[in-house]
Amino acid sequence: MPDSIRHILRAKQHPARAVECPHCGAVAHRPCRSQSRTRIMTQPHPSRISAWVRLTACCPVCQVEPGVPCHLDGRELRDGAVHPRREAEAREVAA
Ligand SMILES: [Zn+2]
Ligand SMILES: [Zn+2]
Repeated sequence: MPDSIRHILRAKQHPARAVECPHCGAVAHRPCRSQSRTRIMTQPHPSRISAWVRLTACCPVCQVEPGVPCHLDGRELRDGAVHPRREAEAREVAA
């Protein structure tokens, strides 16, 4: 990860916090919690980031609109995953 991006992420909350976390159940704008729910995570769970990316960005790889899951060879990516380029796209929109 280039330092410039790292700096942006550190400077403000991760934009994926705008959506609920399907992994730990954190509601919008609340931080993710560890499985024991005693520790607050500094970064959202990967599945929350994927959920946010699916809602905010089009995918330049598989050409889907926001809200539509990424797919490969006609099948959705496993566990709601998104293409890395789509995540990059979402970060640009949020920046
Ligand atoms: Zn979470
Ligand atoms: Zn895709």
